[in-house]
Amino acid sequence: MLFNDKVILVTGAGSGIGRAAAMHFAKESGWVFGADRNETGLDETAGMMSASGYRFDRLKVDVSDEAAVAELVRTIYDKAGRLDAAFNNAGIAGGNHWLEDYPSDLFAQVISINLFSIFLCMKYQIPLIRRNGGAICNTASVAALTGPGGLSAYAASKCGVHGLTRVAAMENASKGVRVNALAPGLTDTPMVAATRVENVAFDNMARTAVPMKRAAQPDEAAAAAVWLCSPAASYVTGQMIIVDGGLTIGG
Ligand code: NAD
Repeated sequence: MLFNDKVILVTGAGSGIGRAAAMHFAKESGWVFGADRNETGLDETAGMMSASGYRFDRLKVDVSDEAAVAELVRTIYDKAGRLDAAFNNAGIAGGNHWLEDYPSDLFAQVISINLFSIFLCMKYQIPLIRRNGGAICNTASVAALTGPGGLSAYAASKCGVHGLTRVAAMENASKGVRVNALAPGLTDTPMVAATRVENVAFDNMARTAVPMKRAAQPDEAAAAAVWLCSPAASYVTGQMIIVDGGLTIGG
């Protein structure tokens, strides 16, 4: 059991990759705190956890709100007395608009939820994780490495996550906290289903472009995040692990 007696925070735990990771951490005996702004999604995750007999606490939080993130970490400390790992994963796609048509308020919102939230989460998590040592995984995307047309805010936010991850890894390498990023490719979650409704042609094109000719299942992406947070990755820090069916190697 990789996370026996360990306390793990997963953001975006009410859906998709976050829910899959929460289940995976719990299966490895971790005590999981799941945060999300979507209470219904959190309730569904909680139901799955309890059906499997896993330990799970749900917390309704907007991860782009500094006071709420500070309170989230404080609540975990009050209840569990420690934090060993964090998977900072909540995010939004932000719609598909050519740069010159991209609504400025939506651009700011995507940066706030996808990037500023990662800064906030790490700002409050790191001092607590440092006490016993541990690891953080931040969700980036293959969009941090490519230029997906229509997704300027998303790509910019995910490049930022990559940069923040490397800085946090450098600052904490000698302090017992490893920090890495996960870069999923196309993964079949509600986020992708919503994008497909908006633009079927774009979704079909994205699927055709994957050398493995299929999207990932949420658990396939989550497994890499769980590994990065586990002792099995004890000498890995500052890296972004790509889980994309070969998308970024062409083919
Ligand atoms: P999803 O929509 O299924 O799950 C995202 C979760 O984040 C939702 O439960 C949502 O309520 C939560 N969330 C959004 N904004 C929040 C906020 N401000 N505060 C708290 N919770 C918030 O999507 P997913 O595909 O599982 O996405 C998870 C992460 O993976 C995201 O960061 C996304 O950018 C990234 N990602 C996804 C794909 C993909 O193809 N699905 C590819 C690359 C990266």
